[in-house]
Amino acid sequence: MKTQDIAPFFATLQAANPQPETELEYTNVFELLAAVLLSAQATDVGVNKATRRLFPVANTPAKLLALGLDGLTEHIRTIGLYRTKAKNLLETCRILTTQHGGKVPGTRAELEALPGVGRKTANVVLNVAFGEPTMAVDTHIFRVSNRTGLAPGKNPLEVELKLLARIPPAYLVDAHHWLILHGRYVCQARRPLCAQCAVTRWCDAWPAISTAVAPAKVPHSSRCSAT
Ligand code: SF4
Repeated sequence: MKTQDIAPFFATLQAANPQPETELEYTNVFELLAAVLLSAQATDVGVNKATRRLFPVANTPAKLLALGLDGLTEHIRTIGLYRTKAKNLLETCRILTTQHGGKVPGTRAELEALPGVGRKTANVVLNVAFGEPTMAVDTHIFRVSNRTGLAPGKNPLEVELKLLARIPPAYLVDAHHWLILHGRYVCQARRPLCAQCAVTRWCDAWPAISTAVAPAKVPHSSRCSAT
């Protein structure tokens, strides 16, 4: 993607969705941190399903600690890697309580020092809760950045740094939401919906990709038997 194409690319995504938001449900910064921590290798839909039960019972570090490992595990057992996530979340709660007065800190170093909080989680919290122009590169952003030529890179950090360098400041704060939503609903992994895409004219992969997509997966139940 040429440098001069990046602004119209984001202007188009912005026009379709002027105030993009995370699809994780939360009502305070701690809930956001907990939801993002739980979302690693899980869907936002699955996390929301669990936190709708968990947060009314415990939505502060002190309340989660009071719930204990068994109580927390019971609420999040539908989420992948729930045992590890439960331990990390409780240890994070302990650190928040003992070192941060029960509040979520607002610096990358402090966030990344929390168990279960890596660079991507810190980027989400810094962006969504503190309004910083960070770029949390997940599988959708990684794919869209490489496919469109916006920020090609071999790993998430390379893509993140290129996005930060290439995206005009006016679009930086919301860019990661637009890219995630575009990847989740339009520029999908196996079958990008190029016919419904508003940014085809700036995409390096189009039109070649529209004739080279993987075939639709046949549901197991509709496959013919070999007998
Ligand atoms: S044209 Fe197709 S490949 Fe390019 S961004 Fe749109 S959906 Fe993705």
